[in-house]
Amino acid sequence: MTFEELNLAPEIIEAISYMGFEKASPIQEKAIPVAITGQDLIAVAQTGTGKTAAFTLPILHNILKNKIKGTSTLIITPTRELAMQIDRQIQGFSYFLGINSIAVYGGGDANEWEQQKKALRDGVEVIVATPGKLLSHLNMAYAKTDKIEHLILDEADRMLDMGFLDDIKKIINKLPKKRQTLMFSATMPPKIEALAKTILNDPAQISLAISKPSETVFQGVYLCYDNQKIPLINHLVSDENEYKSIIVFTSTKKKVNEIVRGLRSKKYRVEGISSDLEQSKREELMRDFRSNKIRLLVATDVISRGVDVPNIDLVFNFDAPGNPEEYVHRIGRTGRAGAEGVALSLINEQDMEKLADVEKLIEKKVYRAPMPEFLGEGPEWKDRAPRGKKPYKKNFKKR
Ligand code: AMP
Repeated sequence: MTFEELNLAPEIIEAISYMGFEKASPIQEKAIPVAITGQDLIAVAQTGTGKTAAFTLPILHNILKNKIKGTSTLIITPTRELAMQIDRQIQGFSYFLGINSIAVYGGGDANEWEQQKKALRDGVEVIVATPGKLLSHLNMAYAKTDKIEHLILDEADRMLDMGFLDDIKKIINKLPKKRQTLMFSATMPPKIEALAKTILNDPAQISLAISKPSETVFQGVYLCYDNQKIPLINHLVSDENEYKSIIVFTSTKKKVNEIVRGLRSKKYRVEGISSDLEQSKREELMRDFRSNKIRLLVATDVISRGVDVPNIDLVFNFDAPGNPEEYVHRIGRTGRAGAEGVALSLINEQDMEKLADVEKLIEKKVYRAPMPEFLGEGPEWKDRAPRGKKPYKKNFKKR
């Protein structure tokens, strides 16, 4: 479906074509017609599906059409990376619309606080915020919420997992009762349903098929000993022309530096990113990664959701993610918007059970890749998953 068929204002259509989007994604096709009417909405959609545009476009359309002035829209999202990414997307869309937005998140310096304060005082149209920092502002007299007409909760399940429920309730208590609320969540556990009942009014419900990695991502898994992991990755990334942009995910901050040291190369830049770094440093690294100055980024799950880096062609799971959904988020960093990608997981024997959980969620067996001979044997596979079948994309350097 085209965006014209979704009846968006011509100015918005122009902005969309400027962003290079040609067709609406399934979540956009379903959510935009509902959100544009002002009805509440609860949508189950994962990151990578185009959900950000699914909630921002109808809201921008309504601000424009109804000539709404002042702070009318509040988007609450779990992490600063997501807040920045949503803000960037809104700025991209609204460049010619005269609609301003600001990302409000913690971790910045006094200067940033002042900037946020000024934007709130001046009545910036759209606020994109993490819950804690937003509350700190809302507790001050300058932040006015009486004109909020649209509230969007993004990644609601993650916000609850991160313990933001109380903050969210406090924020909602400060908003007008008469408003449109859109709630997006990657999963729909009972606690999300319960929250939805209390804050949404007769919502339309949209659900996309449950978390499944894009079909364009080739998924492989190596069963190995821990001391084989670094040499294995170094071997797999040795051809610089093959993969230009690579992320290695690990579950703990502690391991990031150790992995960076093991993967460091004279030929290309390798960096690590975790929530231990200053916000400004994280932004700088993400910029350098986005512009291909960094070839290989080692990261914790802090960037597995939402962070919008196009053209990542290879994602490693240095260890099994904490839960199967996280696996889908991590490997969703590659194969964005239909591009081809490769996701390789390195698991040890203890992680085999987690692999089974992942395969249950994605309803698919992940290709068991053979260890390159020079590394010696890995542990024995104990299951009867398909092996030896040639992967459609690459044979992962058996030699
Ligand atoms: P999201 O699920 O919002 O994180 O979006 C995933 C990626 O898809 C982002 O890079 C968006 O810029 C991109 N995107 C969103 N909608 C479309 C579309 N209709 N056509 C092409 N790319 C899109």
